Amino acid sequence: MTARRQDWKSDLRRLPVQVRPLPGELVFSYMHRLGRANRTGTGLLLDHLGEGTGWTISRQIHTYDLELNEHAFFRLSLLSGYYEDPLRRVLHVRRTRKGWPPAYTWHRFTSRDNDLVRPCSHCAARYNVQTLAMTKRPSVLPICLRHGRALAPHTEPRAVDQSLHPAPEILTAWRRFTILRRRRRNTVTTAFTTASEITNDWARAKTGSADHIAQRWRDRAALLPDVTGDVIRSPETIALTTLFARHPGLLRVPQLPSRGPTPMIFLAHAARYLDHPEPRRLLDQGSPLLHWAQGSELPAWWLPNTREPDRSIYTALRNNTIPTVL
Ligand SMILES: [Zn+2]
Repeated sequence: MTARRQDWKSDLRRLPVQVRPLPGELVFSYMHRLGRANRTGTGLLLDHLGEGTGWTISRQIHTYDLELNEHAFFRLSLLSGYYEDPLRRVLHVRRTRKGWPPAYTWHRFTSRDNDLVRPCSHCAARYNVQTLAMTKRPSVLPICLRHGRALAPHTEPRAVDQSLHPAPEILTAWRRFTILRRRRRNTVTTAFTTASEITNDWARAKTGSADHIAQRWRDRAALLPDVTGDVIRSPETIALTTLFARHPGLLRVPQLPSRGPTPMIFLAHAARYLDHPEPRRLLDQGSPLLHWAQGSELPAWWLPNTREPDRSIYTALRNNTIPTVL
């Protein structure tokens, strides 16, 4: 144990330059910026926060975060010049365990930390962020709605955020989703999860050039070459989210086709919400929506197809029209 490692026993004062934390910023990212603004090393600041592992990963904020116990967090609040509670509300704090002495541990990012992003460059400019920073993404997808930008994931330290204005339908869908989240609080999370699974599977399905929805995604990706697939697919994901949030019974279609709404009713709704230009494509055997609606059951309804109103829906879709369903 060297003398330097006992720095956490000394009294602390606010650093001369105060640094405003970004919303959702990770603790290590914030400490790094605090050190840079005050022209001091992150390692030295860590020594003053508490006992740690003794090794410093001074620049790898895209790979590591810090976990502080409550006494170490208190010392960070002293250094930063912000009170503990507001600082805790703004930062993304992993854990603050009780116990003496003040201490920190490292958290290495894993594939489960896929919700970490570089902050939006326009937001960062407002906060006078000069160096690399890392934040929790502000919503279920990596988008800054305020500035209409797709955010870069933490795994790509050199990537930058991009304007989404070449595909305005993405931002329109996101504004709708914001309203939907307020109005359908109880169903929107499940609806979004299921809709995302469907569009993810759809993107992987290799449906060919006749698939209008996959073609939409290819066209959008050509306009926004570095934007992640989940953002590219988000207008269709949100269209299906809206459908499920308004008609939660449709979420049970793959499990209970004999008792609940039938796959045909789901397809009719989906054709309308996706504004599908050629609805009969949804009946193709390779159709990802049909595949989801059938679930793991054999499609017993498919060949006889005697149930009404399934027969009329089927006929309407075959004729490339979108049927009206209750
Ligand atoms: Zn922004």
